[in-house]
Amino acid sequence: MKVLVINAGSSSLKYQLYDMTNESVLAKGLVERIGMDSSILTHKPTGKEEVTEVSEILEHTTAIRKVLEKLTDKEHGVLSSVDEIQAVGHRVVHGGEAFKGSALVTPEVKAEIRRLFDLAPLHNPPAIMGINASEANMPGVPNVVAFDTAFHQTMEEKVYLYPIPKVLYKKHRIRRYGAHGTSHQYVSRVAAEFLNRPIEELKIITCHIGNGASLTAVKGGVSVDTSMGLTPLEGLMMGTRSGDLDPTVVTFVMNKEELSISEVNSMLNKHSGLLAISGSSSDMRDITDGWEAGKPNETLAFEMYEYRLRKYIGAYAAAMNGVDVIVFTAGVGENSAIVREKTCENLSYLGVELDKELNKVRSGEPRRISTPNSKVEVLVIPTNEELMIARDTLRIVQESK
Ligand code: AMP
Repeated sequence: MKVLVINAGSSSLKYQLYDMTNESVLAKGLVERIGMDSSILTHKPTGKEEVTEVSEILEHTTAIRKVLEKLTDKEHGVLSSVDEIQAVGHRVVHGGEAFKGSALVTPEVKAEIRRLFDLAPLHNPPAIMGINASEANMPGVPNVVAFDTAFHQTMEEKVYLYPIPKVLYKKHRIRRYGAHGTSHQYVSRVAAEFLNRPIEELKIITCHIGNGASLTAVKGGVSVDTSMGLTPLEGLMMGTRSGDLDPTVVTFVMNKEELSISEVNSMLNKHSGLLAISGSSSDMRDITDGWEAGKPNETLAFEMYEYRLRKYIGAYAAAMNGVDVIVFTAGVGENSAIVREKTCENLSYLGVELDKELNKVRSGEPRRISTPNSKVEVLVIPTNEELMIARDTLRIVQESK
């Protein structure tokens, strides 16, 4: 079965086409600047040259039509006909409390995703555009939605509620939802497979640290706590997001600086984190370069980032009364040996012992970076949200037959 996985943003659309007989990627690509002048389609068929095409793509239906043209193109294509695509999987950021797992798209499911626009105003509307575009271009082909929040729906009430008037939860569903669920679920499963141990027995802390960053405590295979909250702003210090702070900072700054709601939102989401403290970059590569060169602002940014990450690892070890496995994943987690080294250096009280040489190896495969004596297994596992979505899509479509 061939499954197309789509991740639609407001002006972009990423895709990957899988052959699920062996879970191989046949092609992948990206449409950027949808709705703007000179939209760019980048298409990479596996084993062939990448092609780039600039044209006018005003909305998502045209974007998917162009993608399908590329996938069936004589020269750059990988399919003889669009009919070979048997299902489409879509990434959706917010599934609220309605979705505890991936779901087959029906009119009711779409209506529920629309009801959640309030909770994810930037992310859920493009997902609906992606689904509509896929239905328009491939009538009769089933669509499945996978939610970033679904994996965290197993959290208990005492974990997901905020200690604020309960009426706010009743009226507006204000609570912790978390994010990156597909990634946390994927890497925790791969960790158990890698260690050849049943996931039901394991206490795993998954560190998804990329541009956005979140930690999850996975106990017995389910999410028991996660650092992102109502929105993906809470928790760790990130590239441009503040993460945790005293909520009074928001009202205080709004008052003193005469900022509007959207201005303060923009400050906390786009102008904070590593970027704000270093004053130079949100990219961990620049921050560690600056730290190595002894630049004071980058050094402070690096130290704050590592300190906050380590505090959360300690918190989740406490939440689960122990930890068997720590997994690093996503852009920083998979690539930054120095972030992993410095974080683990200060986790010796948990019995964490890093093998510094193994930590420097780059492989793109799941690997162990702790010593045989370490009480906690420390792993680097490349995340693969698209594969997880493709697997869910295949399973749900087969179950629905
Ligand atoms: P992601 O959001 O998972 O794609 O991660 C993107 C982020 O990963 C970038 O903004 C960088 O901060 C970080 N990153 C990527 N490669 C490296 C690297 N070699 N060393 C440190 N950080 C990296």
